[in-house]
Amino acid sequence: MGTYSEPLRTQSLGLYVHVPLCDGKCRYCGFYSEPAANHDLDRLVSALISELDRYPADTPVQTVYLGGGSPTSLPVGSLARLLEAVASRWPGAREFTVECNPGQTDARILTVLRRFGVNRLSFGVQSFHAQELLLLGRRHTADDAVSAIRLAQESGFENIGLDLIFAIPGSTPDAWHQNLHRAVALNVQHISAYSLTVEPGTPLLQAVQAGELDAIDEDTDRAMYEMAIDCLASAGFVQYEISNFAREGFACLHNQGYWDNRSYIGIGPSASSYDGGSRTTNIADIRQYVRRIEAGQSPADESERLNDEDRVCQTAVLNLRTRKGVDLAAFQATTGADFAEVFASPLERHRRLGLLEIEGGRVRLAREALGIADSVLCDFSSF
Ligand code: SF4
Repeated sequence: MGTYSEPLRTQSLGLYVHVPLCDGKCRYCGFYSEPAANHDLDRLVSALISELDRYPADTPVQTVYLGGGSPTSLPVGSLARLLEAVASRWPGAREFTVECNPGQTDARILTVLRRFGVNRLSFGVQSFHAQELLLLGRRHTADDAVSAIRLAQESGFENIGLDLIFAIPGSTPDAWHQNLHRAVALNVQHISAYSLTVEPGTPLLQAVQAGELDAIDEDTDRAMYEMAIDCLASAGFVQYEISNFAREGFACLHNQGYWDNRSYIGIGPSASSYDGGSRTTNIADIRQYVRRIEAGQSPADESERLNDEDRVCQTAVLNLRTRKGVDLAAFQATTGADFAEVFASPLERHRRLGLLEIEGGRVRLAREALGIADSVLCDFSSF
């Protein structure tokens, strides 16, 4: 049995199962992932299930998120085995999300997802423009995304989200507006909108550095973000986090757990777990991960013990990302710190600038701060 500290026994937990497989590498991706074709996938799934077995059946898992990479890169039989292992251990989980690659999601996969209780799908659409998908190195088309989402809806899924990326080199506010409209027209319940980050070591960065692509300037990036907020609000979506928008009642419960800084279990290569006091990260190498699990060893590669200041700051920054912000009483109860006292100086400065609102026992980013959130949040990352 693995070890876990007391908070895992007493809290409601999120379970994240990481499947770092992709059928190729997107040009902007800085995450660890490997081509599915290079691995014995049945062995990987057995290792994932063995790692799940390290947690007792009474571990209070409330939400499950199977992400990647692309979990849909698994052969359908292996995917079914993994889903069954999760569903049989935690049949009472309220939300069970699977990330779906639009180019890989067919009727067989959707049937398997439904059979094992998956009740939320998240599609990595990114754009509906062929040129942008090409530039990002995605291996699906806009038509693939539309067909996959329609098929999922016809299969009975009633909680579907999609991810979009803006500020793609060469993009324009008009092109972004069209993406937002096409996303809304698909009648999904959840839309995430992320500004493209040009990560170190990626082909995209090389292309920008070589002058082959022009990165979008900061003002246009900001204008595109503001457009997303306005456009999605007028379509009836509620913004509940800096980058996340949902129909009423469809905010992602699993991700809300991260922003509340609640504990979570991460299973799989490169996955992290957080028990309220320490963060542990598994080795980012599929082969070594499988070998360690098969040898009965821990897959953990790093463990970081958070001190009180780390925990207080982390909770503040994560809470402030949400539109409900920091609940001052809950903050004191979970961290033992008085938010207004600990962060008196940045709180006052940003309040005077109109970037923070204090109301009803809560502190939250003002609408004007959303486009420059990072510059506000960094003042709460230490004290
Ligand atoms: S599908 Fe996701 S994890 Fe895989 S390469 Fe693309 S961005 Fe990275």
